[in-house]
Amino acid sequence: MAEQHVKNELSDYEEDEELQAPPESTPAPPKKDVKGSYVCIHSSGFRDFLLKPELLRAIVDCGFEHPSEVQHECIPQAILGLDVLCQARSGMGKTAVFVLATLQQIEPINGQVTVLVMCHTRELAFQISKEYEGFSKYMPSVKVSVFFGGLSIRKDEKVLKKNCPHVVVGTPGRILALVRNRSLNLKNVKHFVLDECDKMLERPDMRRHVWEIFRLTPREKQCMMFSATLSQEIRPVCRKFMQDPMEVFADDEIKLTLRGLQQFYVKLRGSEKNRKLSDLLEVLEFDQVVIFVTSMQRCMALAQLLVGQNFPAVAIHRGMAQEERRSRYQQFKGFQQRILVATDLFGRGMDIEPVDIVFNYDMPEDSDTYLHRVARAGRFGTKGLAFTFVSDENDAKILKDVQDRFGVNVAEFPEEIAISTYIKQSW
Ligand code: ADP
Repeated sequence: MAEQHVKNELSDYEEDEELQAPPESTPAPPKKDVKGSYVCIHSSGFRDFLLKPELLRAIVDCGFEHPSEVQHECIPQAILGLDVLCQARSGMGKTAVFVLATLQQIEPINGQVTVLVMCHTRELAFQISKEYEGFSKYMPSVKVSVFFGGLSIRKDEKVLKKNCPHVVVGTPGRILALVRNRSLNLKNVKHFVLDECDKMLERPDMRRHVWEIFRLTPREKQCMMFSATLSQEIRPVCRKFMQDPMEVFADDEIKLTLRGLQQFYVKLRGSEKNRKLSDLLEVLEFDQVVIFVTSMQRCMALAQLLVGQNFPAVAIHRGMAQEERRSRYQQFKGFQQRILVATDLFGRGMDIEPVDIVFNYDMPEDSDTYLHRVARAGRFGTKGLAFTFVSDENDAKILKDVQDRFGVNVAEFPEEIAISTYIKQSW
């Protein structure tokens, strides 16, 4: 009877969890002031970067829970003082990479400009200076100033004379003017950053300014460049400023994430999903599996169904309090449970370890979500397997988007598959 009820709930495809009050036993988590929607597909948190405590506190205050992809890739190298050339579409959190990396390394000495950041517009310069202020709020000795054209240069000269900043953010024209009239001394610069570097280097006048400024800074320094777009032509120009930089191109990163992962789809009716899932769980070899569903009701119902069939399953969804989620995730992490049934939101604020197999029992809502889900299996060249159930036209459309966008081929499941193709073998 109970099982029948569960099955009915699972075949009710149209439910909209946003419209339904969560059950009393699982109160909605308190709303936190969390910014952005970064669910890192890797298992690192900002803590793993070993940043100064005063930076970690500021990160929490900013509402950042998890590093974004570029932050995950670049920060560990950038805080070691290595040169970085990074391209990632806008909104990926590139600013925090250089702001955190430079603040981590800074040793403020009065009267010395140590960090120089340049960008092509006044608005962006202002915005970057605000990020510096936000992240350095627990580093009271660090002084930040922003200089750009359009406002009186006298004011900037006065700041440099009376209250010399350690971090200077600005546009190349004004910075050069301040250097030429000897108000700004670049002899102590240790970190040279260009944001939206292609925009600056593509314009001949700005490029000349940037180059002149660059040559007035010491030879030994860290150089970092960021942009949303970096054409093949501009990349060698950027490299002229750098010494063997770490290069991160976000598009390549996606390919890297999906490399080694086998992705299959299974075409079936919604009502056939449970049978197919348990058949697959019977025949496949795995240590750990994550099964994604669209709503918390479906999540609870599916976990209950699997437990009823003696599968070691546990559910995690957004309706649960953070503590409950953590303790359930610990059970999974500690191998007490080997199957995790989850909604997309469970990953936020949690470090997710890689698993062998990911099931999209319900289709993710878009290609981004697909990437985040399946990247939990087979990350960075390790083997893994991802199954996606396709039960209607909309599912098929999303799967097509995934293939087009990431240039991958998701094949129909061949019914038989050799274990060695997806299990990491340690012998
Ligand atoms: P980009 O420089 O790549 O265009 P930004 O650095 O401007 O992106 O970041 C876009 C927005 O995302 C900003 O509002 C920023 O505060 C926010 N953000 C950046 N990193 C994170 C993170 N790890 N978690 C939450 N929000 C973030």
